[in-house]
Amino acid sequence: MIAFIDLAAQQARIRPAIDAAIARVLAHGAYVMGPEVRAFEAQLAAFCGARRALSCANGTDALALPLMAWDIGAGDAVFCPAFTFAATPEVIPWTGATPVFVDILPDTFNLDPARLEAAVEAVAAEGRLRPAAVIAVDLFGQTADYPAIAAVCRRHGLRLIADSAQGFGATLAGDHPIRWADAVSTSFFPAKPLGGYGDGGAVLTDDEALWDRMDSLRVHGKAVAGDASPGDHDPKYLNARVGMNSRLDTLQAAILIEKLAIFADEIDLRQGVADRYAVGLAGVCLSVPSVIADGVSTWAQYVIEHRDRDGLAAHLKAQGVPTAVYYPVPMHLQAPYAAFPRGLGGLPVSEAKAGTVLALPMHPYLAPQTQDRIIEAVRAYNG
Ligand SMILES: *Cc1c(COP(=O)(O)O)cnc(C)c1O
Repeated sequence: MIAFIDLAAQQARIRPAIDAAIARVLAHGAYVMGPEVRAFEAQLAAFCGARRALSCANGTDALALPLMAWDIGAGDAVFCPAFTFAATPEVIPWTGATPVFVDILPDTFNLDPARLEAAVEAVAAEGRLRPAAVIAVDLFGQTADYPAIAAVCRRHGLRLIADSAQGFGATLAGDHPIRWADAVSTSFFPAKPLGGYGDGGAVLTDDEALWDRMDSLRVHGKAVAGDASPGDHDPKYLNARVGMNSRLDTLQAAILIEKLAIFADEIDLRQGVADRYAVGLAGVCLSVPSVIADGVSTWAQYVIEHRDRDGLAAHLKAQGVPTAVYYPVPMHLQAPYAAFPRGLGGLPVSEAKAGTVLALPMHPYLAPQTQDRIIEAVRAYNG
């Protein structure tokens, strides 16, 4: 059986380093906010050229933290795609704000900047909600069209979050999304390109004041620099705002330091796998992924499209090739989100894509012979 994502192959490569990192944490015993957490935050920020990184418990909290830090809430509209994982829209009603779903571009699956601007203008004209922020998603590992999206945000005074849970490490014209976004959120869920051995997440920002407020929020709203302190108490028990408990475990940080050390090499390996698919699947009756001009994807997923997607998936399964459908039902059609507003013209592209997308096995250690078997199996399908 071919693996969809082979985490064991990666572990075999770095197992001694992982074992040593875990042993160091067991020896010092600082399991919460230990020295590896600060070290990992510094390394993560350096990797993508951000001034600061703030680690937290998962990639979902990493989306919620900047919204909370900006006091986004009731009466605010936050624009996001519907063709994404549930976490993207989920954090918006957490704050009391309203998600407004916007359609995607047909070639990259990422937020359509023209549709975004039309949706913002329609919401502003209606006057019921105040346009406040945009969450763009780096779906399947490639960056959204940040120059165009950031221009829309500037024109309308909106904050911009890049949901880079799948795309951390991806670049556009040589720059990471932090060049354009006010905050970049990512996830260390094991199956993500930069995954740990459990849950974890981080927010990247160039804004020191935002970092301080999120640092407070991740520890129950503890008092931080700039907060008034009523008397001479331990700041741990002074609460300046209503926060949450969202910390990255020291053990996960120690493991992620070792994984980050090989991440740039793994992105190259993923590109090699993507290139082999593109060549092997050329001329077959399906579409292979296209990457935004001047973009480098982390290839979190390799998603092809076929008009008989379910037939192809069943055929591949019979050949021992696992596949997955991301995403079968766009978020605006799911019950908890169905009543939220949609951008002008609805979301026809998102709805059409849900019926055609199919993700093939993708990871840095996919051997060429194994990949050729997958390619042959796809080519042999005459549906
Ligand atoms: C995985 C993912 C998240 C959430 O990450 P968790 O760590 O699982 O909370 C958010 N957005 C997208 C697009 C994701 O793929």
